[in-house]
This record gives sequence, structure tokens and C-alpha cells, in this order.
Amino acid sequence: MRSKFYISIGSNEGDRLINIIRSIRLLKKRLSILGVSSIYLTKPVGFIGRDFLNCCALLKTEYDPFETLRILQNIEGVLGRTHKGKPYKDRTIDLDILLWENLTVRSRELTIPHPEMKNRDFVNIPLKEMVSLGFSDMGYTPVIKGNQSVRMVIHREALRFD
Ligand code: ADP
Ligand code: MG
Repeated sequence: MRSKFYISIGSNEGDRLINIIRSIRLLKKRLSILGVSSIYLTKPVGFIGRDFLNCCALLKTEYDPFETLRILQNIEGVLGRTHKGKPYKDRTIDLDILLWENLTVRSRELTIPHPEMKNRDFVNIPLKEMVSLGFSDMGYTPVIKGNQSVRMVIHREALRFD
């Protein structure tokens, strides 16, 4: 069965735009990309560091969520991601699963919906953009808190990934 799912893509180390473009190219080799949001410049949440470039993508796959997480982690490794988890640090690429159709997963390795997504404008702003374009909302309503710095820097029409 093919499933649709949203991911968040972020980079705040090295050439951030190139990292995001490379990650999308690698994702495309193993999963289908249905759509990518605009790219936003955002302040790190939870630690002090360089600003991030962030976007969201809607993907489709035959893999299950755990197999998909391993594919995402493999791509993070290829792009030179070295540190994991807390304390949060700069990262060349962060690929997180946000929503997976109407599925809930709660395990040590994987939590879906992503437990922090409700608190992150850098997730909800690009997600809201995609939903407003007609992509599935998967039963989730993105709510923008408005207290975090998130600014569109590259419109999705300028980077046609899909
Ligand atoms: P964060 O994404 O919170 O900044 P990391 O990328 O270092 O931190 O992820 C830490 C761990 O989070 C990963 O090893 C992974 O097993 C786990 N994890 C739990 N739920 C998810 C999810 N929905 N998407 C991606 N990783 C997840
Ligand atoms: Mg992550």
C-alpha cells in the first residue's frame, strides 16, 4: 500500500540551500515527492546557533514509517550530519517525519505525529502553505504561534522540485 507523509527539512550548517537541494535530490531517488513548500529563514528553537533554512515536503512511498526513517537517517549521514539528539546543535541536514496519513506511532525510535511540531512555526508555516495549495492536511490543522522569526526567502515557484 502506498502512503503519503509530510517531512520537515532543515539546515543551518555549511551551504544551507545546497544541503536542502541535495537532500531533495537524494529523497527523490528512493521516495516519490508530491510537493515541496517555499524555503524559510528561521531562528533556531531551543538552542543558540546560526539561522536555519527550513521547508516541508509531501512524499509517497511503499515503505513503512520505520523503513522510511532509516532512509531519512541514511540521507542525513550522506550529507554529513554528525551529531544527533540533545543538546541541539548546528546540523547540515535534519529530516523529520511530521505526519503519516492518519497514523499514530509511539516508540523509542519514532513518534508520529512529530511531538514538537505543534510548537514550531518553522513547521506550521510551510505546512499551512502546502495545505492552502490543496495538498492533504492529514487531519492536522497548522496553527501559527507568531512568536518565532520565520521569513520566506525562496518562493516554491523558484525551485521546482516536484
Ligand atoms: P531533532 O530532529 O529533534 O532535532 P534528531 O534529528 O537528532 O533531533 O533526532 C533524534 C531522534 O529522534 C532520532 O534518532 C529518531 O530516532 C527520533 N525520532 C523520533 N520521532 C521522529 C520523527 N517523527 N522523525 C524523525 N526522527 C524521529
Ligand atoms: Mg531530526
